[in-house]
Amino acid sequence: MNFLEERIAKDGIVKEGNVLKVDSFLNHQIDIALFNQMGQEWKKRFEGKPINKILTIEASGIGIACIAAQHFGVPVVFAKKSKSINMEGEMYVAEVESFTHRCKNQVIVSKKFLGPEDHVLIIDDFLANGCALQGLIGIVQSAGATVEGIGIAVEKGFQAGGRMIRNLGYQLESLAIVESMDATDGNISFREQ
Ligand code: 5GP
Repeated sequence: MNFLEERIAKDGIVKEGNVLKVDSFLNHQIDIALFNQMGQEWKKRFEGKPINKILTIEASGIGIACIAAQHFGVPVVFAKKSKSINMEGEMYVAEVESFTHRCKNQVIVSKKFLGPEDHVLIIDDFLANGCALQGLIGIVQSAGATVEGIGIAVEKGFQAGGRMIRNLGYQLESLAIVESMDATDGNISFREQ
């Protein structure tokens, strides 16, 4: 097991409905040393890519992206969740269905912060069905920018997102891929990487 898999095995809690709770170290209380290791690992995995910007989505992606950005020496842009599209014009907009909150959000990024000259690493905490990533990829495409890669902390390999994103040809680097998890006994198994 790698460092993140070990931490998930130790502190992750399996909830009903295919939800893995990692709020003691990843998306409520935050273990900065762990995030730093994650950033280091992505830096290694995306070595040689001309990344000049990291794109993520609020809220949980921001902390992960910011610590990772220190390893890449690039700025972070985060997509804002908004129900209003009245700022359209200066904004790229995508529709994202939330897996955990079961609602649809419009996510927006100002045109000031993403353009055709950008080579983007997309970072997020979880990959489940891939809706959040599809929205972020759509925003990069609308900007005429290039997706250089996608870094995910926890991929739930038994949901469709990972396969879909890899089939589209993107370099997707998930630091932990959960192969199965069981809410009754709390067992979590990981895909061999
Ligand atoms: P997707 O769009 O890939 O279906 O879901 C990704 C988003 O849903 C992530 O940004 C994350 O915030 C949330 N998410 C999906 N599955 C889980 C989960 O098992 N646990 C937690 N904590 N968040 C999840």
